[in-house]
Amino acid sequence: MRKILIVGAGQSGLQLALGLNAAGFDVTVMTTYTGREIYDGSVTSTQCMFGHALETERAIGVDLWADSGHRIDALGVTVRAPDGARAIDWLGRLDHYAQSIDQRVKFSAWIEKVEQAGGNVVVNATTVTDLDKLAARYDLTIIAAGKGELVDMFDRDNERSTYTEPQRALALAYVHGMAPRPEHPNSGAVRLSLIPGHGELITIPALTRTGQCDILFWEAIPGGTLDVFTPGAAPSETLTTILELMRTYAPWEHERCAKVELTDQGATLIGRYAPIVRHPVAQLPSGGLVLGMADVVVANDPITGQGSNNAARFADTYLKAIIEHEDRPFDQAFMQATFDSAWKRVATCTAWTNAMLAPPPPHVLDAIGAASTTQAIADRFANGFSNPDDFTWLLDPGQTALYLSHAQSVGEGGS
Ligand SMILES: Cc1cc2nc3c(=O)[nH]c(=O)nc-3n(C[C@H](O)[C@H](O)[C@H](O)COP(=O)(O)OP(=O)(O)OC[C@H]3O[C@@H](n4cnc5c(N)ncnc54)[C@H](O)[C@@H]3O)c2cc1C
Repeated sequence: MRKILIVGAGQSGLQLALGLNAAGFDVTVMTTYTGREIYDGSVTSTQCMFGHALETERAIGVDLWADSGHRIDALGVTVRAPDGARAIDWLGRLDHYAQSIDQRVKFSAWIEKVEQAGGNVVVNATTVTDLDKLAARYDLTIIAAGKGELVDMFDRDNERSTYTEPQRALALAYVHGMAPRPEHPNSGAVRLSLIPGHGELITIPALTRTGQCDILFWEAIPGGTLDVFTPGAAPSETLTTILELMRTYAPWEHERCAKVELTDQGATLIGRYAPIVRHPVAQLPSGGLVLGMADVVVANDPITGQGSNNAARFADTYLKAIIEHEDRPFDQAFMQATFDSAWKRVATCTAWTNAMLAPPPPHVLDAIGAASTTQAIADRFANGFSNPDDFTWLLDPGQTALYLSHAQSVGEGGS
């Protein structure tokens, strides 16, 4: 039986481990924290996953929250005008539901599932020295340690990395008690409020330890008016600041928050990081090779909510490649080719995400505006979050103009 070592018990590592377990591999997962510690800890993401990514979980039977009642069925965009009013406001319908399952809930359950399936889970904050001793005992070692320190083993890919500095400062809180939008009382929708020159507010329905909740998530342009959060602040203080900024910059979402309260004392997160693409194969001091996966090698800003979706795409790609490789050696050529296949599935997503961090060019503004009068454009925009490869139309001004004129001539009313 072929032995695979996976370092990191997150979206990609656990999804791959569960898939490999089911396919008959001998899998070991190294994790810094036990499932219990993850469950009892603080939130780590907003982790909204759309239909295409959820399908990769469903394919290997690990979509444990399909019957939870938690569903996201739409994605809306609001743009703030200079006078503070809503210049644009529309809602696109998703063809397939999305979900945001608190990673504390998901990863702790998946760790248990790996163990139940006969996989080995080892609690160890793995170092390069550990790996140097361990890797030779496995047929393949995969590093799925998110944005942890092991990323330093992998060199930056300068051609594919757009930025060298964080493009947003991040602050979020999970809350109970948020009211629905009055105009769509029955819709569980992700809402993206664009505050030109300042940043973005994203609100996301989610399922946490204490049931259904909403996440209030600010993406602040560094050094700007929204970049006011203090790492290490008390959760209540972070929530107060989030709400004050909402009152000033996104009152249409603030008015939904009259009764909100934190879901728990670990319900806030503050941070920032630079988006980066890394080369996928790293060499250990004694010469062994390891393969990077998901955030380790492609870490995008969460402005488009794609990191977990990409992690699922990576896990799905690596799973198929490992199975199809049968008993041939997992050498450097295999590692590079496997990453290359995954890159094809996340390259457009990365380009689109990086574009969203820059001030929007006129053709993107045209598209966002057109979505408020033509429902088909709003729906296509929303469904692009599930299948970002479709966003090639938005990345090119000529294609955008062609698509918009076609969609508008076919014509449909706005939401
Ligand atoms: C504020 C914020 C909001 C986000 N919102 C979204 C969203 O809405 N939608 C979306 O798709 N994505 C979102 N993301 C991104 C998403 O959470 C990540 O991209 C995704 O979890 C990455 O999966 P991964 O498998 O690479 O790593 P992770 O899921 O981060 O898992 C890595 C694991 O490795 C462990 N680890 C680290 N170092 C070691 C070590 N040395 N030894 C052992 N274990 C180790 C960590 O503890 C962790 O459990 C968001 C991220 C942030 C920060």
